Amino acid sequence: MRTMNERIVELDGGWLQVKVPLPYSLKWVNAYLLPEGDSGWTVIDPGLRLEETEVFWEEVMRSRNLAWGDIARIVVTHHHPDHYGMAGWFQERAGAPVWMSPVAHSNANRLWGDGETFSEQLTAAFLRHGLAGELEDAMRAHLTGFRAKVSPHPSEVRLLSPGETFSMGGVEWDVHGGEGHAPGHLLFHDRTSGRLIGGDQVLTDISPNIGWMPGGDPDPLLSFLDSLRRLRALEVSEVFPGHRSPFARFRERIDELLDHHGRRMNKMAELIGERELTAFEVCELLFGARLRDNAHNLRFALAETIAHLVRMEAEGTVVRAARAGASGEATEYWRLERS
Ligand SMILES: [Zn+2]
Repeated sequence: MRTMNERIVELDGGWLQVKVPLPYSLKWVNAYLLPEGDSGWTVIDPGLRLEETEVFWEEVMRSRNLAWGDIARIVVTHHHPDHYGMAGWFQERAGAPVWMSPVAHSNANRLWGDGETFSEQLTAAFLRHGLAGELEDAMRAHLTGFRAKVSPHPSEVRLLSPGETFSMGGVEWDVHGGEGHAPGHLLFHDRTSGRLIGGDQVLTDISPNIGWMPGGDPDPLLSFLDSLRRLRALEVSEVFPGHRSPFARFRERIDELLDHHGRRMNKMAELIGERELTAFEVCELLFGARLRDNAHNLRFALAETIAHLVRMEAEGTVVRAARAGASGEATEYWRLERS
């Protein structure tokens, strides 16, 4: 583990950016600590719950002379495990409320709550989209493996929705919603300074994962692009993102992301060409077959591929047909629409 000095960045206004380690290619998630005067600190997006991150946070607290009682509340931008995972763990220690959107709250329960059936539903959907049968068990294990990484769930959740204002760190924030990456994603904008606490809605260097899933947003890529076009109107001086470092070029980055998804859809149409392919086959052409060794990356790549195919279908670029695949089970195939 890197030294604490490399892991905690002091920002203007007494904020702390804490780089909470992640065992994925993203390497870390940014938690932000905002000072609340005598009442302590607000923690935003505490991270994925692992033994390693528990030890990490204990070290962070020690290095800053913080006690658990100094944590006044926990705010979660969206329900993804790398952001939400430690919310309940923090709450157990600090006795502080967890704030999140109602949609994020219901998603956290649907995906990882007791008796969840989501892992099974997503695995089945992936098989229908052509996932190679020998990867089924690894995919299921990957999905159910998240339960421990978001446990315990917070017992006291306070709900916060787009359109409301929320005060933290001495600032009255406008709460905005973002869709496409995670339903019910919250962003916090300070109209005075132009600061934006953006979660994963707009990231620099990385294009946020846009994943289709059963029972979720039927067209997440459309929702993402619409959200970006809407958020683009905000006057933003600096984005405090969920991954990588704070950055200033908000509108330019949005334009790049809008462009990126357009180009990706063109690329996919090119790859399909004259063929009829499953989403899994398109995914392997797009991202490479080495994804087979990494269920985590494969899951995001395949969900992203399906999200793009669904958008292309709505735009009239591709059509799908279900028929028996190699396994004999109903499988969905995609081909270019010839108009
Ligand atoms: Zn995320």
